[in-house]
Amino acid sequence: MKTLTCAQMGGKCDVKITGSTEDEMMANGMKHMEEAHPEMAADIKKMDRADPLMVAWAEKFKADYAAAPEM
Ligand SMILES: [Zn+2]
Repeated sequence: MKTLTCAQMGGKCDVKITGSTEDEMMANGMKHMEEAHPEMAADIKKMDRADPLMVAWAEKFKADYAAAPEM
């Protein structure tokens, strides 16, 4: 299992997000966004996955996930 903070995932607090896979971490991050930063979650849901901002985010997330130490 790996841990990233909300801020590392593009959020704005230091809550730790955990996941055993990229998909799980992304799902947990989204769940946290919906609970803690609903306005950010709404903005993300409106965005197209092919949007350059989303593509850039996904690349950064994958790199951060790969760099995060295994717990
Ligand atoms: Zn947060």
